[in-house]
Parts: sequence; C-alpha cells; structure tokens
Amino acid sequence: MGNIHQLEDQVINQIAAGEVVERPAHLLKELLENSIDADATKIVVEIRQNGRSVKVTDNGNGLDSEDLKKCLNRHTTSKIKNAQDLWALKTFGFRGEALSSISSVSKFAMRSQPRTQARALQVTSDFGTQSEPYEAATLEGTEVEVRDLFENTPARLKFLKAPAAEISQMKQVLKSVALSHPELEIKVLIDGELEFFWGPCSSRTERVAQVLGFKELRHVTFQDDVATLEIVFSEPKWAAKTSKNIWLFAQNRWIQDRSLQQAVLEGFRTFLMQGEFPQCVVWIDVDPAQIDVNVHPTKSVVKFQDPQSLFRRIYHVIHQNLNQPKQMTMTTVQPTVFEVRTAPPIQVQWPVEKTQLKKVDFNVVSKPLEVFRPQDSVEPVCETGFWSGLQVIGQVHMTYILAQNQKSVYLIDQHAAHERIAFEKLWAGWRQGKIEVQQLLMPITVDLDPETVGPVCELKEEFQRLGLSFEQSGPQSVAVFALPSIVKDHAVPGVFLKTAAKIKEQSVSFEFEKILSDLFATMACHSVIRAGHAMSVEEMKNLLAEMDCFPGSSYCPHGRPVAIDWGFDFIEKEFGRKL
Ligand code: ADP
Ligand code: MG
Repeated sequence: MGNIHQLEDQVINQIAAGEVVERPAHLLKELLENSIDADATKIVVEIRQNGRSVKVTDNGNGLDSEDLKKCLNRHTTSKIKNAQDLWALKTFGFRGEALSSISSVSKFAMRSQPRTQARALQVTSDFGTQSEPYEAATLEGTEVEVRDLFENTPARLKFLKAPAAEISQMKQVLKSVALSHPELEIKVLIDGELEFFWGPCSSRTERVAQVLGFKELRHVTFQDDVATLEIVFSEPKWAAKTSKNIWLFAQNRWIQDRSLQQAVLEGFRTFLMQGEFPQCVVWIDVDPAQIDVNVHPTKSVVKFQDPQSLFRRIYHVIHQNLNQPKQMTMTTVQPTVFEVRTAPPIQVQWPVEKTQLKKVDFNVVSKPLEVFRPQDSVEPVCETGFWSGLQVIGQVHMTYILAQNQKSVYLIDQHAAHERIAFEKLWAGWRQGKIEVQQLLMPITVDLDPETVGPVCELKEEFQRLGLSFEQSGPQSVAVFALPSIVKDHAVPGVFLKTAAKIKEQSVSFEFEKILSDLFATMACHSVIRAGHAMSVEEMKNLLAEMDCFPGSSYCPHGRPVAIDWGFDFIEKEFGRKL
C-alpha cells in the first residue's frame, strides 16, 4: 500500500485560507469585492475583535437558495467558466476560493435575498461544517458575517500582527475600495463606532479629496494605444514623509508595484526634497490581454506585459503636468485637465488661466527606447505671463524678491528661481540637442576613485551630448576640455563626482534620465545667483520674465519652493480687517 492519499476538503480549504486570507484585511477585501461584483451601491462594514470579526452588508443582487448551497464549496464561482475568461475579466473575484477558505477558518454566516425573492435564506459554517440554507430575517441584498477568525488554526492566529497594525491595514483596504469605486456609498463601524462614511462621489478627484484628504489636487488623464491613465495628485508642497500616500490601481484593482511607484517618484523628482514623498493616486487601464491578475493569491500583485512603457508614461505624464504653470496662491485649487487624443503626435490643450494658456506638442514614443527622451514642450517660448506680470517692490535680505499683484504679495527666492531656470535651460538644450558649450584652453583635471573612472568613461558620449567633453587622463582621473557655458569652471569637479556617485548606485537603463536630472540640478546650482547678492530692479524683472519661459518654475530642482505668497484675503483676515 502506497503512502500517498487525497487530502480532505477541509484541510485543503485551510491551506488555501493561509494564502487567500492570510490576515483580516484580506478577508475584508474579499468580502467587499464580492459585494461590488454583485453590483452593490451601498455597503456597510462592521469590524470587531481587532479585525477577527467582520460583517459586510450590501444591497447587491443576492444569492438564491441553489447558489447559497454551493458558494461555500471550493472553486465555486459565478464569474468565470473557462480559462479564456481569465483574460477578459470584468469582475474582482474569479477563483471561487474566498468563501470556502474563510468559512473553513471562522464562524461564518451568509444571509441573502435576491430582489426577486420574498424571503431571505441563510447558510452558516462552523469552521468548515456547513449548514443547509434556512429561512432568516429579510434584507435587501447580502450580509456576510465572520467571527472568531483563525480560532481553529492557532498557528495562523499567532501570526497576526498587533491589533493596531491589523486595523490600520483594514482601513487601507477600505480606502482602496472607496478609491476604485467613487460611486459607492460606504459606511464603516469599528467596535460599534462610526469610523468612515463616504457618500457617493461623481469623480475620482472628488473621491481622493473625500477619502484621503489630499489638498490642492491636480487631475491628469492620458490615453494612447498602450494605456489609459488617470492621475490625481496634490501640489508638491503637500509632500508626505513616507511613500504610503502613493496609491496604484490597475484595471481598478489596488496593486503593489515598486517599479510603478518609482515612476511616480521620478515624476515628482525635481519637485520634492530628499525624504519627501508625493500624495498621488494613479489608475491604470490596459488591454486585459496585457495584464495577468492571477499571479498572486490576493491579486494585489499583477504582471504587465510591458512594465517599462507604463513606467515611462506615468513618469512623463506627472512630470509634464508639474511643469505646467500653477496659479500661485496659498488656498486655491486649480485642477489642470489634461486631455490627449490617441494617434501621435498628440496635441494637448491646457485649459488654464488665460494669461498662462499655452499649446503643447506631445509626442509619445511608442517603442521602448534606452533613454526615454520626450520630444515634448517646455521650450523657452517666452510670453507675457504670470511672473512678469508681478510688480517688483524690491529686494529683501539680499535674498528674496518682493513683488505683488492684485491678489497677493510674493517673496521669490532669487537663488532658487535662477536655479530652476538654469535647470530648465539645460533640459531644453539637451532635448533640442543644442547646449551652448565653452571650450577650455587648459583642461580641468578631476580625480575620481578607480571604480568610477570606468563607468564614467562608458558614458562619455552621453556626457558629450550634455556639452561635457572629457578624456581619461590617468587611472583615476579625467581631463575635461569643454563644458556647458552655463556651468562655472569651479563646478566641474563637483558635477563629475556627484554624477559618478549616482552612476555607481544606479544601474537600470532608465536611470540615465535620473542621472541627467541630478547632473542638471548640480550644474544649475553651481551656475547661478547666490543668496546675498544685490540685484537691481531691472535684474529682478528679467529673472521673473525668464521664469515665465519655464512654467515649472514654482519649485527649484531640489524641490524647494521658489516662491511663497500671501493672498491679501489672508493678510486682511490676519489683521482683523475681514472675518
Ligand atoms: P469568487 O468571488 O472568486 O467567485 P467567492 O468564494 O468569493 O468566489 O464567492 C463565490 C460566489 O458566491 C461568487 O462567485 C458569487 O456568485 C457569490 N457571492 C459571494 N458574495 C456575494 C455577495 N455579497 N452577493 C452576491 N453573491 C455573492
Ligand atoms: Mg470573491
């Protein structure tokens, strides 16, 4: 007699439970997704027992007695029939595992009443021992109640985190569901106390403000043959201390994806300081054939056919939008709407303030390139704009330009402003392949450490495109004989050392753009007016006029704000002239 035997269903379900509902947050996610798949418009969630007890009530389609009998069995689903369906999913669930797993590790009750039925039926499961459906109190939809989660699997119970951590994870799940379904009404009680009430919203932007409390939102949409993106984010000044405020959704599923998160960070790169993270929500939709959602039991990780091209699009859409002018006020929200038609080259219209209206050419590069070099906007087309429209009052502390318009008074950091302009000029020059270069009569020698000379020399051609020409002059040194006019000679060693350090710590192909951005930021920083330098009114006016050529001028390349402002409204309130 052999040793191999078939496992009992109950054991199989318990094993599956470890994967599908490893913790209360996963259980909650499964129940919520079932309600959404049942077309619910209202959901009430009650959490107790530190997350080990969850009740979800919805007003969805409900289950009839036949379905109630089957739904706790393993691999029973109403959502797919064959493997083909997996590639055209319209529902959240499809594996038919959640209810069977959950009901095998909890005291479980499911009460349901489809609209066509006059009575409700209920099934229960006591750690896997199921009841037959029996009549119960009526309701409109379905109620699922889970209690004593993992009571029969002490090993699993032991793995639960501290109550606060489990509840916090559950709140994240609730927020993610609210964000993916703005039209849903969701009410959440924890230990009998109202925790959230999110009424239905008519847009994702509205939902982001309601659920996450993000302020000063920008809204961007993008579409081409690779992906449809909708991105909502706060002005960079609302930066957070962690990456937790970056939310990613693919086909409306909340996903964890480090690479796409990185794309968001890259998009914000020059607008945030070290250690600051953006507040940003990204919804990605791709052709269902381009994505596999079945790579992870909780479906929180998905696989994209071409993650690189998504990376570039997310990065670019955010970066591009941040480079658009923003009304400088402390309180107003001016969501910028970004609409793109499909076939490249694409014309983008930016319905912003009249004085700032600008047409932008946007060519999407559809083939993956080694270095993504967008042929886009931000060319220095100077117009009479926001900054030059300000009236210069004078210089303060030899560091700030004091200016005003009808609405506000402004302090503009002269160094930061100039730095931003220099940075944008370098970018524009690089994009157009024309950077003004000065040849040096005497080459400048820069000492590097032996490991970096190699990698730096490998990028010689790239450096040359940036206007920096050099040759290796020794085992540990390079000799620089040409540099961009904008860079001062004494900045050269700094620029090289910093770039070399960056090259050393980064290796992925896209990263050259990051290196470039750092390089430009360093170059810019070393080439501009310092604080403590007296400026004439004429000089100040010129600086402001130049800022209009580069609409991203609100932040210096290191992410510091370039200007701060006080609306007269605010000032009058502070002085008690106004309520
Ligand atoms: P899946 O969602 O992958 O199909 P589940 O185990 O989560 O598997 O659910 C099994 C089936 O039970 C679903 O396919 C659906 O038909 C039904 N069901 C579960 N929850 C609900 C609900 N809240 N309302 C209506 N039907 C439900
Ligand atoms: Mg399900």
